[in-house]
Amino acid sequence: MQDIKEGKTQMEESRQGEATVIENVQVANKHVYIESYGCSMNFSDSEIVASILSKEGYGTTKNVDEADLILLNTCSIRDKAEQTVRNRLVHINRNKKENPDLKVGILGCMAERVKGKLLDEEKLVDLVVGPDAYKDLPNLLREVDGGRKAVNVILSKEETYGDIAPVRLGGNGVTAFISITRGCDNMCSFCVVPFTRGRERSRNFQSILEEARQLADAGYKEITLLGQNVDSYLWYGGGLKKDFSKASEAAQASAVRFGDLLRMVAKEVPKVRIRFSTSNPQDMKDDVLYAISEHENICDYIHLPVQSGSTKVLAEMKRGHTREEYLGLIDRIRKIIPGCAISHDMICGFPGETEEDHQETLSLLDEVKYDFGYMYYYSERPNTFAEKKMEDNVSLEVKKRRLTEVIAKQRSHSLGTHQAKVGKTFEVLVEGVSKKNKDQLYGRTTHNTVVVFPKKDFIAGDFVEVNITDCTGGTLIGEAV
Ligand code: SF4
Repeated sequence: MQDIKEGKTQMEESRQGEATVIENVQVANKHVYIESYGCSMNFSDSEIVASILSKEGYGTTKNVDEADLILLNTCSIRDKAEQTVRNRLVHINRNKKENPDLKVGILGCMAERVKGKLLDEEKLVDLVVGPDAYKDLPNLLREVDGGRKAVNVILSKEETYGDIAPVRLGGNGVTAFISITRGCDNMCSFCVVPFTRGRERSRNFQSILEEARQLADAGYKEITLLGQNVDSYLWYGGGLKKDFSKASEAAQASAVRFGDLLRMVAKEVPKVRIRFSTSNPQDMKDDVLYAISEHENICDYIHLPVQSGSTKVLAEMKRGHTREEYLGLIDRIRKIIPGCAISHDMICGFPGETEEDHQETLSLLDEVKYDFGYMYYYSERPNTFAEKKMEDNVSLEVKKRRLTEVIAKQRSHSLGTHQAKVGKTFEVLVEGVSKKNKDQLYGRTTHNTVVVFPKKDFIAGDFVEVNITDCTGGTLIGEAV
């Protein structure tokens, strides 16, 4: 985490609520250490939190021992994610013993899911704040300063933090997130997100364009538009997506959808690469695919979670589409954006999944041949439809065996995809020095594939043509041309 004292570039709120870049923020007299877990939305939210706290005199620090306030921004997507946080709190207890004035807070999805009960279960925790309540942090910290514990886990119908200029915590000065929507209305039967992040609402496209402009002016070369479900981005003047039909005719007619927003951002910052995550097959419109094909700077890469290859299991998961419909979308992606890279999310061992269903997942992998994927076995989540209505009846042993088979198949496809790129040249956006070899740089192609190559005089932020000479299952290796 960056320390404001060093005078790093900083975004701040201007009079019109638009972001402005200012240099050399006042020296902070207090320090917050923020640890983010889970998805990119949490990392993006931590930048919002750092900004809100900077107005309370908090600088950010990477050194947990230097902190006056420790915030864990948590994930609830699997039980293991929550266990990780509870184990981390055991370590933080040492800091609290050494510094009794230290304040500890839990943010994010676990805060929203467990709520005030966390204060009883974890005695060293002083405050619990849900993903929509970060603007209340200053009040909650005053509560704690008054010797009380504090909680705010109210989910909002409006909040998008569009008026808060994030403090960039990513640290490479090359890539940055812009969150465009919050919440999810899809209610997939296994997913805890709708309960921890609330209903879908989209951010004003004007503030998104403003933030993109500011990032470009600050020298960033890649922006990722973020949301739990970016495809259902819908700006019609504010309010929940589900209330769109109640909006005036004029508001409906001038509504901005995801394809429109992608084009606007691409035109606004033509020298900046645009990525987006996460898509949802049931909401993705072909217009988004055409927007990608029309703009050189929108990357040829789509993360398109599938979760299962079996139409029966997809129905149980309430994914809103069949295997055939998903494969139809894959065909259209490859027709409209030739060579587009695609990745997936997959869940093995969902309740009721048979060996035949599992074989359908393996055959779907063979049919699509994804570039890469995020693969897990089913973890039952409290209060989800699946937890309430379905028996978690696939044994852990079978879950693990099926996951091993899915990962092995994906690995062979990823290696095949990479081997096919040897001998070709790709434009790479340099993100930094390779962790494994200080004489090498690493970066990504438009396909979101990592490439390493000898440094020469190139630096982070450069776009470099790299000829691929070799590869592994996860990385391409090359030479700058
Ligand atoms: S689309 Fe489904 S899996 Fe994704 S966040 Fe929404 S409910 Fe969860």
